[in-house]
Amino acid sequence: MQYQADPLKILLVDDSLALRKTLGRQLAEQGHLVAEALNAEEALLEFAKFRPDLILLDVILPGADGYFVARQIRELEAGQWTPIIFLSAKDGDADLWQGIEAGGDDYLVKPVSTVVLTAKLRAMQRLRSMGRRNQEISEELRVVNAQLRHLCQTDELTGLSNRRGFDEFLLQELRSAQRDKTPLTLILCDVDYFKLFNDTLGHVQGDACLQRIGAILRSLCLRPRDQAARYGGEEFALVLPHTPKSGAMTYARGLQAVLRQVAIAHPGSPFDSKLTLSGGITTCIPDASATCESLILRADEALYAAKALGRNRFFSFEMQSDTTE
Ligand code: GH3
Ligand code: MG
Ligand code: MG
Repeated sequence: MQYQADPLKILLVDDSLALRKTLGRQLAEQGHLVAEALNAEEALLEFAKFRPDLILLDVILPGADGYFVARQIRELEAGQWTPIIFLSAKDGDADLWQGIEAGGDDYLVKPVSTVVLTAKLRAMQRLRSMGRRNQEISEELRVVNAQLRHLCQTDELTGLSNRRGFDEFLLQELRSAQRDKTPLTLILCDVDYFKLFNDTLGHVQGDACLQRIGAILRSLCLRPRDQAARYGGEEFALVLPHTPKSGAMTYARGLQAVLRQVAIAHPGSPFDSKLTLSGGITTCIPDASATCESLILRADEALYAAKALGRNRFFSFEMQSDTTE
């Protein structure tokens, strides 16, 4: 048997035992793997079982013919394409035309010359390796695209989702809350007196502080769909699905308790020289008219109220209260 660096799995379909034997032997001698079928039914069974790289298909078979087999195969493997070479004693232009129309890739007239067949197989091998390379490239592209997408949606400093990522998951959660009629909470947080923090400790410390806040918020996303994002600058957003008003307020108090415990030094802050956050909470079971913009606007107004009420608190219009009460 000849050495084949890239052997083909060939399904040989012909009702003539003599042809199957001679051609089968030739192909095996060239190093290919061969399966045989003698009618349409067997051909389709073998196609499913053997998963050939190439089909040599006799046109005239007992019962359903080769054209039928080709059409069936094209229907069976949507999105894929196993090359089919028709073998036929009929050498008219119309026969060739019908073969290609039925889904064939080539048409050889019997008796098939060994040289011609070998050359066709070489061409098929080349096409196959190009196809494989294309598949590899599209897989690589898919992976790189996913990485790029992740990068585009990630904030470099904190590793949280950035504004773009936030917009996407807020929309997803809004749609899902609309569909399931479940409460959705959005909290916008803003660091209190952060300009003063930078002014006293410097921007490098300021950046490290934002990273710590990011890590704290991430650690408080305990439920699988809770998500934190850096909304921009020293502002963060929390999206908490399935969280009613009372749950949102409890969550905000918990966040403040963690901040008190962590006690990040903020020289100059009136709150015991410790870093604090203010937050605006909005909670609703969104109806069809609710939009991300309307949720953000409401949370932003609540944040503004929290700042105006003296900072270091989380305010909710829906609860008509803040975390200090
Ligand atoms: P308020 O309590 O009203 O929120 O006061 P504030 O000083 O926190 O708010 P202001 O909007 O006046 O200032 C925000 C500061 O946040 C100013 C800006 O330099 C700082 N900041 C925004 N993004 C970054 C960042 O990526 N790194 C650092 N170090 N500072 C940032
Ligand atoms: Mg701000
Ligand atoms: Mg601020």
